[in-house]
Amino acid sequence: MPPADKHRARKRFGQNFLHDANIIERIIQSLDIKKEDSLVEIGPGHGALTDIIVEQCRHLDVIEIDRDLAAEFQWRYSDKDNFILHNTDVLKFDFAANLSTESKYKLIGNLPYNISTPLLFHLFKCKSLFSEMVFMLQLEVVDRICATPGSKNYGRLSIMSQYHCNAAKLFKVPASAFNPQPKVESAIVRLVPLESPEYEAQNSQLLETVVRTAFSQRRKTIQNSLKSLLDKSLLEQVGIDGYRRPETMSLREYVSISNALAQVES
Ligand code: SAM
Repeated sequence: MPPADKHRARKRFGQNFLHDANIIERIIQSLDIKKEDSLVEIGPGHGALTDIIVEQCRHLDVIEIDRDLAAEFQWRYSDKDNFILHNTDVLKFDFAANLSTESKYKLIGNLPYNISTPLLFHLFKCKSLFSEMVFMLQLEVVDRICATPGSKNYGRLSIMSQYHCNAAKLFKVPASAFNPQPKVESAIVRLVPLESPEYEAQNSQLLETVVRTAFSQRRKTIQNSLKSLLDKSLLEQVGIDGYRRPETMSLREYVSISNALAQVES
């Protein structure tokens, strides 16, 4: 049965649908899809990206939370045998259980902005399943992902994204490319998961705790903001001046703190 033909964009699902053919083409080209690729798309919506990529790849899994949009796909794509729809919340989706480990997947999505940070952390946990991810996100989030120490956007998201992936901002997308138009600016980011991080944390959960704790007190010195986790002598031990601010410290320095702390705790 065909779905109802008038779907109203749902704010709670961050629904801003792309309609600009040039932008759609540029996003898809950013992923460099090959015939033999397996792809995952998060939030296909009405299929602005999906209708094109499904024809270009060996296999496509899509994850869509909206029941009406999912029904639209089940009906429109009923003749496609390279397509699987998961009508669920991507934050609860178990990628490792649902995807094959035979080859890596390429991941694409014009993501719902209200869940972008938790979603990125959810994906970092299973990053080994993916060779590459191309996402549309709020411009400010892309700037935070790619920020370097000392800049105002630098923080937990920058450090953990750059720990797990090589990150590159590709291009901005104007609000006029969407319907309805979002109130925020958007940009495309490419994330390439690293097989082994440049500076390896002995315990990546501990690294995350150190970074989260440091930035929960952004204006304090690093020795004050990390007081609940460690003694300032540990900072001295790894050669870090305890009077520095959390936003001046590099990923390598956070990894060295986390590894020294792991030694103390073991
Ligand atoms: N890809 C389409 C496009 O570019 O026009 C739609 C993009 S729209 C910004 C975000 C999409 O993600 C919507 O289809 C929305 O229903 C879906 N979505 C929102 N929250 C979700 C979640 N937690 N899990 C899975 N899909 C979600």
